[in-house]
Amino acid sequence: MAKHIPLRKSIPQGNAKALMKSIDSEENPLNRSTNCQTEQPFWKAKTLDEMTATEWESLCDGCGRCCLNKLEDYDSGEIVWTDVACTLLDGETCRCKNYVNRALTVPDCIQLTVEEVHEITWLPPTCAYRLVRDGEDLYWWHPLVSGSSETVHEAGVSVRGRTVSEDGVEVEEYEHHVVDWPNVVPEGSINQG
Ligand code: SF4
Ligand code: SF4
Repeated sequence: MAKHIPLRKSIPQGNAKALMKSIDSEENPLNRSTNCQTEQPFWKAKTLDEMTATEWESLCDGCGRCCLNKLEDYDSGEIVWTDVACTLLDGETCRCKNYVNRALTVPDCIQLTVEEVHEITWLPPTCAYRLVRDGEDLYWWHPLVSGSSETVHEAGVSVRGRTVSEDGVEVEEYEHHVVDWPNVVPEGSINQG
């Protein structure tokens, strides 16, 4: 018997739009750091707990995977993904529709911290926090690498167009929405082109 676990995650994306605009900009100092041939980009040069708040926020690729509901097996503890999205997730932009006041609607949305990145077992394999935690590089489609907030969608990594809202879906029905793609790195997203 599986039971619903209210494990959701979010990062400080209060200024998500401004942040992504900044990432898309050639003026972005984070982009400049990746263009320097003598210095490593911050996500390779620093550990998670060494990052500035701006660097930490910019690590989020905007995929929206962590805003999907998950089911935990009551006995084994196994966690499976569903395509049932949080009520506040915009299924097209893959962003929270009311991040600043989300606690009023979704009190179990948690703020991702360095400690939680090390503790949470279910972060998607594409998640930049997990990749950096595990000493791996970011993929080509990550906005910090590509310079565009659209590549996470183009690479088929984001949840765009693949979710249903939890509104009106009973927890008992979640078992009919179990999917494995949020826990998979899409084959076509590994190498560019
Ligand atoms: S899974 Fe990771 S990279 Fe994707 S939205 Fe969540 S925190 Fe950001
Ligand atoms: S409230 Fe929902 S959509 Fe917003 S960040 Fe949290 S889990 Fe994601």
